[in-house]
Amino acid sequence: MALRNTRILLREFERKSLNTLAASPVVLGSVTTSVTAADPCSFDLTTPVTTKAASPTEEDTTTSEKARRSEINLDFNDGKKLFSSVTTGKLIRSMLNQQMASYEPIVDVGIKVMRSRLVETMIVKDFIMSMVKHTFYDHFCAGENLDEAKKTLQKLWNGGLKGIMDYGLEDATDNASCDRNYNEFLKIVETTKLLPPSSVSYACVKVTAICPISLLKRVSDLLRWEHKDSSFHLPWKVDTLPMLADSSPFYHTMSRPNHLTPSEEYDLHQAHQRLIKLSEKCLESKLPLLVDAEYSSVQPAIDYLTYSTMIRINRDGNRIVHGTIQTYFRDAKERLIQATEAAEKMGVTLGLKLVRGAYLSSESQLASSLGFPSPIHRSIQDTHACYDECASIMLEKVAQGTGAVVLATHNIESGRAAASKVESLGLEKSSEKVQFAQLKGMADGLSFALKNAGFQVSKYLPYGPVDMVIPYLLRRAEENKGLLSASTFDRQLMSKEVTRRLKAAVTPSTSQ
Ligand SMILES: Cc1cc2nc3c(=O)[nH]c(=O)nc-3n(C[C@H](O)[C@H](O)[C@H](O)COP(=O)(O)OP(=O)(O)OC[C@H]3O[C@@H](n4cnc5c(N)ncnc54)[C@H](O)[C@@H]3O)c2cc1C
Repeated sequence: MALRNTRILLREFERKSLNTLAASPVVLGSVTTSVTAADPCSFDLTTPVTTKAASPTEEDTTTSEKARRSEINLDFNDGKKLFSSVTTGKLIRSMLNQQMASYEPIVDVGIKVMRSRLVETMIVKDFIMSMVKHTFYDHFCAGENLDEAKKTLQKLWNGGLKGIMDYGLEDATDNASCDRNYNEFLKIVETTKLLPPSSVSYACVKVTAICPISLLKRVSDLLRWEHKDSSFHLPWKVDTLPMLADSSPFYHTMSRPNHLTPSEEYDLHQAHQRLIKLSEKCLESKLPLLVDAEYSSVQPAIDYLTYSTMIRINRDGNRIVHGTIQTYFRDAKERLIQATEAAEKMGVTLGLKLVRGAYLSSESQLASSLGFPSPIHRSIQDTHACYDECASIMLEKVAQGTGAVVLATHNIESGRAAASKVESLGLEKSSEKVQFAQLKGMADGLSFALKNAGFQVSKYLPYGPVDMVIPYLLRRAEENKGLLSASTFDRQLMSKEVTRRLKAAVTPSTSQ
């Protein structure tokens, strides 16, 4: 039944997409007329991409924002220059995939099927995996193994972008799987040495893949309890930066947790050693390392391991280990400020990747199931403001020589605000300590515009067998569905450029 529905939806989608492709960019743009009234593709530096109606005071802010932004040359208008390294075939495929990802009924049915027991049937599984492989997977992932990922990286590099290699491992359950995953991460660092110099900007690791997830939960509980009760002593705890703030949610740990057993302490030590050794390898190869952030039930333990490793490695001006702050959390800014202050006192370079966060619905659902308010900002505007404030604080730390930041976002306004701040602080645009990053298959327009303006820009390149990266693809599907998703603006830019190329092919004399 679900499969039949999927087929019907796919047919409907195909029909709509063909109509869309045949249409002019204005027709494509009309899909999102709620974003902007005029030609949606004609964005310039002073056109805020916002759905919010401006109040008089907001209008004032917008005017001063405009003046500030006009210093920045992020050019989205020249599609020819923007997508000069992308073939027309690739542009069309990207548009189709993004359009399919934004079509809610397809995504909803797809997600239901992937999470259902249907995928346990071999024939259904093969069919679904093959469909996913030729659509979402090819769009969002870099390949099934490191060799394929290297080819994707080479294409990016030819277009002036760098890559962040990310082996798509999800949660580990025991020490044996942690060791296997650790060896895969090491392989990435080793392989980087054989790639064109600086084509890879960072290696990337998930602590949930090198420490058993149940242990991360236990350690997070203990850290939360220690934050609440200073007399609660954790004998295994080493020097670290603050991971929790008074505004952090504590509903995960409602009663005093038992202390770690000797075998749990041993496993924690092992996990810490894996992260330390990986960071030392990165230090040897001068390859910075990004530690991903996950869900709040395990994040305190991830931050604990990351910050304590950072204290050992990011000394003497080294900026190797980077943690991640998810700015959709209401306590994000307080935690970030605490970490910057503590790092400064210790003489440690604080490396951070800033994201909005990818587990929005599960975080809210967990809080609500326990009878607590969501830990996420009440409105998306609050999340945007938090992201921009955290970015601003980190850029100031870079200017003072005490921080390094990766601005991981697809949001045009956040990209522009950060780019303006870099200029106003007088930082080198090409500084290695300030880098922008987007996911493969998302916000290519922003990536190229930032690169053309002189910034360091990377694409996150997840790779691995199709069934292994399904959780990642489900998160991307959630993120991209809906007409106002992050990919809308990108589709408009690509559509405009495809139309320009098609017109140029038909009437060569007017192609310039
Ligand atoms: C290089 C890179 C690395 C990443 N690493 C991580 C990681 O380690 N951990 C992780 O969790 N994510 C990670 N992400 C994913 C990232 O969190 C999502 O891509 C991000 O949420 C999309 O936001 P944006 O900055 O692109 O902004 P936008 O395109 O403006 O997206 C806004 C998104 O914010 C969400 N949102 C946040 N707060 C609210 C709110 N209060 N109300 C409604 N919606 C809200 C919505 O779902 C919406 O999709 C990474 C992304 C990149 C590019």
